Amino acid sequence: MRSFTYDALPSRVVFGVGSRDRLAEEVERLGRSRVFLITDSATKPVADELAEALGGRFAAVFSDVQQHVPIEAVAGVRDAARTSGADCIVTVGGGSTTGYGKAIALESDLPTIAVPTTYAGSEMTPIYGITSDGLKRTGRDVRVLPKTVLYDPELTVTLPPSVTAASGMNALAHCVEGLYGKDADPITSLMAEEGVRALIGGVAAAVRDPGDLEARGEALYGAYLAGATLAVVGMALHHRICHVLGGTYGLQHGEVNSVILPHAARFNQGAAPEALARVARAMAVDDAPLGLFDFAVSISAPTSLAELGMRESDLDEAARLSVDTPMWNPRPAGFREVRSILAEAFHGRRPVRVEGGDAVSSPR
Ligand code: NAD
Repeated sequence: MRSFTYDALPSRVVFGVGSRDRLAEEVERLGRSRVFLITDSATKPVADELAEALGGRFAAVFSDVQQHVPIEAVAGVRDAARTSGADCIVTVGGGSTTGYGKAIALESDLPTIAVPTTYAGSEMTPIYGITSDGLKRTGRDVRVLPKTVLYDPELTVTLPPSVTAASGMNALAHCVEGLYGKDADPITSLMAEEGVRALIGGVAAAVRDPGDLEARGEALYGAYLAGATLAVVGMALHHRICHVLGGTYGLQHGEVNSVILPHAARFNQGAAPEALARVARAMAVDDAPLGLFDFAVSISAPTSLAELGMRESDLDEAARLSVDTPMWNPRPAGFREVRSILAEAFHGRRPVRVEGGDAVSSPR
């Protein structure tokens, strides 16, 4: 008999081309009247357009978001929001921008509306990450979950192919880990498998033609499903490693996800065969880890830590930091296992399948 718990989260999603035009209406729906916008330099033009449309409801804008949510930066933005008299935060941008909104929501009672422009999926989750003293810590608090998310595929056509590819791999990672996560249930698994299917087709087509609005819509739909899965299902080893590599070594989150995912998937495959079979089915390939690696290559997403500028001499420390605090994973992973995953990932080896064994790689 089936037995499961599905914890649905209270967020409202408005999806479709032009949905950004509904921002003022959605602010009103929350009973709010003064908006503090958060954005970064790439998405500032969209924020400016939204500020104009908000008219008298616009309070102020902050447009200098840095990746990985540095704690010192967030404190300043929180003060600026308070001084502006805002009663609502609207984030316009990728996961870094959404992350600032969450860090502010954590210590204020300001509700957030997210207008995501990448495939990071953070807008659907109650998970926040803040970096201090070179370490990125994550936590879970439903107060940081955006009340409303406006998904507008038109806002993603300016994403360059390299960001489309890396961010798409990040969303794929949410689906893959969501399928074998500790709290996976039949509903999240449906979302995750459909997410993989939508992302594979949408991201590949959007990398080929960034202006293909249909592909953008499909990729964003997949990213939404991926985020909604991540929100409910705890993540595992892959995400722990990625947070260490991003927070401590300053590597870009999407790119790191692209490199690590095939190796983490191979490592977990024996312990989570059904989950990986569902990934393979959604990708229409025989073997998920190989399929993920080959997909990354096909969209020119990074496949090695060396190409991201990681130093081989830092791999020991990165492995240690990844296992410093206990973490759930379908297959237990200690220093030795993580160090070996990092070695494969450093060199960008193709994670070949060896029948009856663990491992794992061949040069490309
Ligand atoms: P990002 O927000 O830093 O964006 C990546 C790059 O894309 C940036 O240079 C940005 O300026 C640019 N960009 C964004 N939108 C654009 C657009 N429409 N056109 C052109 N350029 C655009 O990175 P990301 O990959 O979106 O998110 C990564 C961050 O999100 C990490 O800090 C990660 O930890 C976090 N994250 C958190 C969760 C969560 O649930 N808490 C989930 C996923 C990711």
